[in-house]
Amino acid sequence: MKTNVLTALLAFCISGAYAQSTILHCGSLIDGIGNIPRKNVSVIITGNQISDVKDGFVTGSAQDKIIDLSKQTVTPGWMDMHVHMESETNKNAYSEKFTLNPADYAFQSVVFAERTLMAGFTTVRDLGGSGVNISLRNAINKGLIKGPRVFTAGKAIATTGGHADPTNGYRRDLMGDPGPDEGVVNGPDDCRKAVRQAYKNGSDLIKITATGGVLSVAKDGSGPQFTEEELKAIVETAKDYGFRVAAHAHGAEGIKRAIRAGVSSIEHGTLMDDECMALAKQYGTWYVPTIIAGRSTADSAKIPGYYPALVQPKALTIGPKLQATFAKAYKAGVKIAFGTDAGVYMHGKNWLEFTYMVEGGMPPMEAIKAATIQAADLLGMKDKLGSITPGKLADIVAVDGDPLQDIQTMSKVSFVMKDGLIFKHTTANLPSVKNE
Ligand SMILES: [Zn+2]
Repeated sequence: MKTNVLTALLAFCISGAYAQSTILHCGSLIDGIGNIPRKNVSVIITGNQISDVKDGFVTGSAQDKIIDLSKQTVTPGWMDMHVHMESETNKNAYSEKFTLNPADYAFQSVVFAERTLMAGFTTVRDLGGSGVNISLRNAINKGLIKGPRVFTAGKAIATTGGHADPTNGYRRDLMGDPGPDEGVVNGPDDCRKAVRQAYKNGSDLIKITATGGVLSVAKDGSGPQFTEEELKAIVETAKDYGFRVAAHAHGAEGIKRAIRAGVSSIEHGTLMDDECMALAKQYGTWYVPTIIAGRSTADSAKIPGYYPALVQPKALTIGPKLQATFAKAYKAGVKIAFGTDAGVYMHGKNWLEFTYMVEGGMPPMEAIKAATIQAADLLGMKDKLGSITPGKLADIVAVDGDPLQDIQTMSKVSFVMKDGLIFKHTTANLPSVKNE
């Protein structure tokens, strides 16, 4: 008898008859698709999905939980397409490579992941670390720790002496000769092996350093570091495993080679010229600007001794150029997805990128779309993420105020939902609203 009642109840629940929903009463809704916010809308969440969006404040059934966001602006969860969750800039960062164990990186990444989620970023692409970022993703997915959805590249792939060669700047006996397993490749065969190793390690995508970079202990910050043949081997092999390829690139020649080889995104793209932009449009390549990284590394470089001697001049010359490149690329019509290079600056300040994008000429609504529906498109997750529409996963953020009037409002995150679960809900900034 008892079993029959339970079975009947279970059947009701599965059919949805008694399924409890969460109903968000949204004063203003930016849904990631429309160009104008909708006023006074109810977003209904059942399980981990958005089941409906209705005009007006609906109350649902007695079991449903109502969340009052009537004084807030509600948007899809924000998506940062370029972060490094394992570490964070500090004046000892270069010596930490010799003093920290993988477990140290793991513990600090837990803190950075939670900070990122609480800042409103419900999805990130981790574009390179030691591989601890793969375990971080797994721990978050298991619900062991709080953090955004992580799509990780594991270790980035570089050529010998290239931007992501992990032994750059070491003395000879420590330098060794890292290979594809350590993400260092030379020639197409190595490239294929490194991609297959990334697959075996459990990566979600591939990151390559197509040109020199600012923070590696190496002289060159912008020249090409892969041949076209090598780039093609990477992209072709990546396709076999369903991987997309993100290419770090500052200089024009490396950017052009990477685009022609078929990468999905150019990261930083600092010295992009008109030809690069035309090529990006022709190939449908995304641009992930990371303006905040350019600014903050240039600022840190002014502090004596913050960076090694080889790094400082690169940070001072390359960093400040990013915002102007972004402005030009936006005007030229290159597809732009939001990304910040968090870790190069303090995790949790990711929202500052919105202000720099707006300062660079992008309207606030487009900057928000770059961090929602556009980023979802770059990830290949447009059917699941990036908008507040029925059928999508319930990743939702609210801010106190109107970001379309004042983009600084993106710092005032008062509500964070990921996968239908509430991770943050504060009414501290809204004295007129009663606490739950
Ligand atoms: Zn990066």
